[in-house]
Amino acid sequence: MATGTSMIITLIGFSISASFIIYIFIRFICARFQLSFTSPFSHSHMERGMNGLEAVMAASFPVKEFGVEKDYQCTVCLTDYKKDDILRILPICTHTFHLVCIDQWLKQHSTCPISRVSMG
Ligand SMILES: [Zn+2]
Ligand SMILES: [Zn+2]
Repeated sequence: MATGTSMIITLIGFSISASFIIYIFIRFICARFQLSFTSPFSHSHMERGMNGLEAVMAASFPVKEFGVEKDYQCTVCLTDYKKDDILRILPICTHTFHLVCIDQWLKQHSTCPISRVSMG
């Protein structure tokens, strides 16, 4: 009987210390995980911003038909604008490009091909 009780006490003691160790371990892992989770995420996010824009963001830039523009040529494909060409206007520097050209460009870059103004 005495052996059984001491065994139970040992078991309880063991499980308490074990769960304490597990608790510390989990907290440690969580902290590490959070740390390694946030930093590469923001890093990759930053990198993505440097390399190219989100398609959604590029798509939100204004579009218009070619009319009287300050630019007469698309710098991406080096072709003069024709009537009825669909152009996209970059919001910050207001440079215009063919819709298809600038959308392609913005997949790889986040800057204006003319002024290098960052759109990210
Ligand atoms: Zn073009
Ligand atoms: Zn520009």
